Amino acid sequence: MVELIPSSDTVMQMLKRTGAFREGHFVYPSGKHSPNYFQMPLAFRYYDTARVLAVALSRKFRVERDISSQLPKIAIISPSSGGIPVAFGVRDALSAEQIYWAEREPDGKRMFRQYVNQGEVNPCIIVDDIIRSGHAIEETAALVKELGATIIGAGAIVRFNTAPSHLEDVRIKSLVDFDAHMYDTSEACVDCKENAPVERVRF
Ligand SMILES: [Zn+2]
Repeated sequence: MVELIPSSDTVMQMLKRTGAFREGHFVYPSGKHSPNYFQMPLAFRYYDTARVLAVALSRKFRVERDISSQLPKIAIISPSSGGIPVAFGVRDALSAEQIYWAEREPDGKRMFRQYVNQGEVNPCIIVDDIIRSGHAIEETAALVKELGATIIGAGAIVRFNTAPSHLEDVRIKSLVDFDAHMYDTSEACVDCKENAPVERVRF
C-alpha cells in the first residue's frame, strides 16, 4: 500500500484556504510584529481537512519502528486544547489506546486532570497543532516524565524553524517547517516602515 503524505505546499494551501494561515501585518500580544499568522483551529473546524492533516502526521509516526512495535499500547498527548483534534485524529489513524491533554491552571501551570496516576500512562507521542517556541511540548514532556512514562515521538502540523528540532532524543515530526519572520519591535518591522495597517491578534 502506498501511503502518501501531502507536500508542505499542499498543506500550506489547505491552511490558507481554511483561514488557518494568514498573510498581512500582525501584532501579537507579546508586542512582536509578523507578516504571517496561524490560527490552526480554523483548519480543524472542517472535519475532512482535520482528518487529512492528522492521518498525514500519523504516517510519519507509523514508519518509526520504536512506535509501530509498541502499538496499540501507546498514548497520544496534547499540550493544550489546540492539539486535541490532532491527538484524536492521530489516535484514530494509529489505533492508539490512550489520549491525554494538558490544560493551563489559573496560575498558568500546565497540568493533566487530577487522578491521572503514576504508571498509568503508556509510552507516548506528544502532538500539537503548531510548535512555535517549543515550550508547550517541553513542559508537557516534563509532566509525562513525572508520571513515569517514556516519550517515543513528538510532532505537529506546523513547526516554526526557530523551534527545537528534537524533544529529548526524538526528532520532532511536522508536515510543514515554516520560516517564521518575527520582529521584536515596530522599528524593526518591514511592514511598519511601509505604514501597512496593523491587525492585532489575541494568541
Ligand atoms: Zn509592524
